[in-house]
Amino acid sequence: MDDLTPGNRPAGPRKPAAGRTGVRGSAAPRVAPRVLRKDLTCSPPHAVFIDICNLCGLRCPCCPTGRRERSFPHRVLTAERFAVLLERVAPFAETLTLHNWGEPFLNPELHEIITLAAGSGRRVHADSNFNFPALDRAAAERLVRSGLRSLHASIDGTSQTAYERYRVGGDLALAMHNLRRLAEARDRLRVPIELAWKFIVHRHNEHELEAAVRSARELGVPILFQLLSTDGDPDWLSSFHDRSDRLPPGAPLEVELAGEMFRIAWQNHVPTSRYLGRRDPALDPARPPRRRSFPVNIVELALDPRLPWCCRHPFETLYVNSDGSVTPCCTAWGTNMTVGNLLEQPFEEVWNGPAMRACRGYLLDPFSGHQGRSVCETQPCEFRDMAFGRR
Ligand code: SF4
Ligand code: SF4
Repeated sequence: MDDLTPGNRPAGPRKPAAGRTGVRGSAAPRVAPRVLRKDLTCSPPHAVFIDICNLCGLRCPCCPTGRRERSFPHRVLTAERFAVLLERVAPFAETLTLHNWGEPFLNPELHEIITLAAGSGRRVHADSNFNFPALDRAAAERLVRSGLRSLHASIDGTSQTAYERYRVGGDLALAMHNLRRLAEARDRLRVPIELAWKFIVHRHNEHELEAAVRSARELGVPILFQLLSTDGDPDWLSSFHDRSDRLPPGAPLEVELAGEMFRIAWQNHVPTSRYLGRRDPALDPARPPRRRSFPVNIVELALDPRLPWCCRHPFETLYVNSDGSVTPCCTAWGTNMTVGNLLEQPFEEVWNGPAMRACRGYLLDPFSGHQGRSVCETQPCEFRDMAFGRR
């Protein structure tokens, strides 16, 4: 789990390549507007996360996988099961992300899964800690040609000391080697894969941000900063966290590093994959900072303009675990937080089932007292607490 964001929306649907899954991507263009109906059913999500492996070799202290907490069964998703999931989500997903709670490169069928996903014509993305075996030239070329549209390297430091404070057990030199090899292969083959360096900021590495900007520039990859979700633990809070606390929930923190403006995203709900001065209107701090409830007695609600400060996951994204179970977001950790199973149920039954609708109802009107219990009420959630003033 690498503090992922949906972010990075594709420019539009691509013409699908011939797939091996039988997914009729070309027959299912994405044109329908996203709507929320009065009964809280919602049009399909644009971003789908499929956790192809919930194991990891590192021990990041703020990650349940890193802490070796056992909630979901440890599992590597087979390509065969991935194909079943893909059949259900490819008709509407714009982006397929191949991780959630683990390291996708530990899946021995990774390349086959990428081929399947890319064959559906959707944008395929993955984050990795880049501690997989050192790439040689051929392996790097195979990976950049695999069909991945974007690959982000989670590397939080420029010295081993700072890096391993969070990426416990990680090898900075190995991660940087792999990033460099891939950047070289990308440039040599002129493959339009979006490689990026993702730097999670915390107290023990914030002094290395400037050096990371310089290294990223030298490598020829963009660097994306994101604040570690610390749940307020003072041992991890950086000075950037302090500054972000004075911003409206979800607003980006803009900082100048090495003469460039960067947008540092905090929480997992802000697109982080673009930076340098361009302001996303949906994140404009000039907007009203808190809307404490939203009307639900409407027939169709265009989601984007009406939910600037509300968590959007249950309206826009789908998180599928390696056993097929679905949670409303990546912070819902636990089998008791699931809202269905996509290996066992049709998509509509999960996406617009009672559990997901309960989440939407709660988020739209959290203070009515009539929502009943939903995952969004019971799950410990920093974003919800900030947005609804529960702290
Ligand atoms: S690299 Fe760290 S944050 Fe990512 S899955 Fe492994 S332990 Fe979790
Ligand atoms: S628990 Fe609910 S409110 Fe919190 S991040 Fe997940 S979906 Fe959003």
